[in-house]
Amino acid sequence: MNQNQYDVIILGGGPAGLTAGIYLARAKSNVLILDTGIPGGQMILTYEIANYPGFESISGYQLSSNMAKQSKSFGCTIKSNVKISQINFGRDVHEIALENGEAFSAPALILATGGRSRMLNVPGETEFKGRGISYCATCDGDFFQDKEIVVVGGGNSALEEAVSLTKYASKVTILHEFDHFQAFEQAIKEAKDHPKIHFIMESHITGFFGDESLHKVRYKNLETGTENELLVDGAFIFIGYEANTSAFRNSDVKLNQWNEIITDEKLQTNVSGVFAAGDCRVKQYRQITTAVADGTVAALNAMSYVREKK
Ligand SMILES: Cc1cc2nc3c(=O)[nH]c(=O)nc-3n(C[C@H](O)[C@H](O)[C@H](O)COP(=O)(O)OP(=O)(O)OC[C@H]3O[C@@H](n4cnc5c(N)ncnc54)[C@H](O)[C@@H]3O)c2cc1C
Repeated sequence: MNQNQYDVIILGGGPAGLTAGIYLARAKSNVLILDTGIPGGQMILTYEIANYPGFESISGYQLSSNMAKQSKSFGCTIKSNVKISQINFGRDVHEIALENGEAFSAPALILATGGRSRMLNVPGETEFKGRGISYCATCDGDFFQDKEIVVVGGGNSALEEAVSLTKYASKVTILHEFDHFQAFEQAIKEAKDHPKIHFIMESHITGFFGDESLHKVRYKNLETGTENELLVDGAFIFIGYEANTSAFRNSDVKLNQWNEIITDEKLQTNVSGVFAAGDCRVKQYRQITTAVADGTVAALNAMSYVREKK
């Protein structure tokens, strides 16, 4: 195998991976970011970010491209849309092979593969995915100009994205399974104060219906057991996330019962020289700021690890 050798290879170019790339490249480490998608990660899916320090408001796309540009300016190499065929966690060196035959090795790896939206897994969801059902307000919001939509979920993403969708939709109904929201006060207040936003609480979607595209959802009130229907042209689902760790599930890297990577305070995993940062690891708060903080800690510890190895 013709291998390109690096000091550190980062899997995933979201805010955690890009921050690690900035710190490592700026310290003159030879660093490579491999991303199976495009750099930016979940930030790309976010219409507006208003809680990243230094920017009162910035689009997820702009923040992603700023971070990628900054990491490249220090000499970090980024390869996007890669297809990884093999990862070997070795004793002294870790190896990664791509389907196109390229191979890379490094004494330290940072796993920063993030997470993705969870599906409801109810009838009609797969059928109407992309035909009325979406998991990304930024990507699909403007398809619903003057339409009525439902937003499913009660966390920060659901409430913030519901507010952002009022730019397009004529009516946004937030449907949530509990009688309260699990979001920051400010996000709850903004949604509650918005004239276009309505609420259906303590309810579950039981099915999606339509013809060529989505026309209605059926939902059940969990308190009374009664079923009702809501006529909508779109449904946006924001009910949490799953860690992108399938590539590590049969490896030596230890995961918890939700398949999140277990790390210590230095963000070191149980495998020597393998660190994890951002949403893919066990942590309480999953935000861009916490991903960026993880990227910093993982990078600095990976750097010390490589220095000691040499
Ligand atoms: C709709 C939405 C709105 C949000 N709004 C906000 C907000 O306003 N403020 C805020 O602070 N946070 C927000 N978040 C959360 C925030 O985006 C995440 O916490 C943050 O992006 C996590 O960063 P990360 O680098 O850990 O992972 P991610 O951003 O998930 O990036 C992971 C990257 O890894 C790549 N990848 C996946 N698997 C592999 C693999 N096997 N090998 C290589 N690469 C891989 C992916 O393509 C992706 O680019 C929002 C999230 C969503 C979904």
